[in-house]
Amino acid sequence: MSITKEDILKKYFGYDSFRPQQAEIIDTVMRNEDCLVLMPTGGGKSVCFQIPALLRPGLTVVISPLIALMKDQVETLKGNGIEAAYLNSTLSFSEQDHIMWRAKIGELKLLYIAPERLFSGNTFDFLREWNVNLFAVDESHCISSWGHDFRPEYRQLNLIKQRFPKVPVIALTATADRVTRRDILKQLGIEHAETFVASFNRPNLSLSVLPGRQRLPQIQRFIKKREGQSGIIYCLSRKNTETVANSLNKAGLSAAHYHAGLPAETRSRVQEEFLRDDVQIIVATVAFGMGIDKSNVRWVIHYNLPSNVESFYQEIGRAGRDGTPSDTVLFYSYMDIITRQEMINNSEQSDEQKELLHAKLNRMKQYAEADICRRRILLSYFNEAVEQDCGNCDVCQNPRTRFDATVIAQKALSAITRTNEKIAMSMLIDILRGSQNRSILQHGYDRLPTFGVGRDLRTDEWAEYIGQLLNSGAMDIAYDEGHAFKLNPFSKQILRGERKIELVKFIPLAERKAREEEL
Ligand code: ADP
Ligand code: ZN
Repeated sequence: MSITKEDILKKYFGYDSFRPQQAEIIDTVMRNEDCLVLMPTGGGKSVCFQIPALLRPGLTVVISPLIALMKDQVETLKGNGIEAAYLNSTLSFSEQDHIMWRAKIGELKLLYIAPERLFSGNTFDFLREWNVNLFAVDESHCISSWGHDFRPEYRQLNLIKQRFPKVPVIALTATADRVTRRDILKQLGIEHAETFVASFNRPNLSLSVLPGRQRLPQIQRFIKKREGQSGIIYCLSRKNTETVANSLNKAGLSAAHYHAGLPAETRSRVQEEFLRDDVQIIVATVAFGMGIDKSNVRWVIHYNLPSNVESFYQEIGRAGRDGTPSDTVLFYSYMDIITRQEMINNSEQSDEQKELLHAKLNRMKQYAEADICRRRILLSYFNEAVEQDCGNCDVCQNPRTRFDATVIAQKALSAITRTNEKIAMSMLIDILRGSQNRSILQHGYDRLPTFGVGRDLRTDEWAEYIGQLLNSGAMDIAYDEGHAFKLNPFSKQILRGERKIELVKFIPLAERKAREEEL
């Protein structure tokens, strides 16, 4: 009797059954049909091409941009008794020659290769002699300029179908919205490919967003409630990873920092320590986590707002891979949006690309400012319809209400006018709340008619509502003038009473229910 895909799953990978979609995908590939696989990180994409590679005669070529991960992936396969190798710039020329020779004499089942390596020299021409029977394009969203990680060298992959029309192509990605999906198929020349979309829902992950103020004390309380549990804190800047890790260590917690600027030995040591549970918390930039297969990460905190929903989803997806309840927290403030916008504006991208990045950032903002179930927003991004509210996000647990905030807006806007549009957040709040601090007195702001008109709201409430006013376009901010607030036509209409504005009722932390109360 011939060997089946189930035999291979058991024999080489040690698993008894397939996860949803895996078997169908493998069957499709075995019928020589092209396909596109969308599965969240950790969903089990690899076996979808590794098992066909073992069932078919000849070689499977796996194209991946993640050079740093190839070695590990190949070592794991070899450890399972599979003839695999990789070709990339980290190998010496003689090592590369040896591998190409092994491919030629048919000794290899899987060959991992980076796209730039595939198209350098005459490697692509050698493929003809290697009896290639399947192409797997991993991280295939990199081929699309609509994706969040476009890599121009991926564009040459259109040559695959042109040169090898009979060899099936399996494209895989964890992150592709509808436009990107269509573009992947088009760019690879596999428009008729069947698309498999595994569910992106991870019901065991709780979702919450907290106002981005006094993040460190909040984080410390959060961690202390979760003694010994592994977690990851994502920060925007390298420097911040170190600052946050140091402060956690000072508070008696076990934390290490990680970013791409650290020496390779340090990075792999930190990673090892985390995997072995010798260190409890990793404070890292987004450089951390790719290819890390740790099942018992119990929480992920975003210290800063990610640049898009795809990245956010991938990063929170590193928690709770074992299916056990795990928590995710995003800190959010209007300054994070501004920082991200500035990063896009100052980048070297084309105008068209900038527009796309802004649109993607906007979707992330919608998630952060949601007043409906956050999981619905997240899954709708991946074109997955959800019938019911999830019950496991902070909005479900603390339903938001909107209220007429025209008077609040008028107070803030008139304080901005009276100070000639020169003040930023903290000064504005001080004026509204009537603080008698030195700077206020120096400027004579205590003599303004608006001084103290907002005493009825606490500082955190004002900060929240002003952030909401900004984000809803009721006022502007001048990045180049110390982030001073400015009026726009919408603000003037509100001030004149010609337009009303609604805001989402702020619920102080202490009054929030369930998980968040633990923070
Ligand atoms: P992805 O590439 O989608 O991020 P991987 O292919 O690395 O995910 O798989 C994630 C983990 O799930 C790996 O440890 C893998 O061995 C495991 N896995 C894959 N398929 C199965 C299965 N059918 N049953 C149990 N575990 C599986
Ligand atoms: Zn919900």
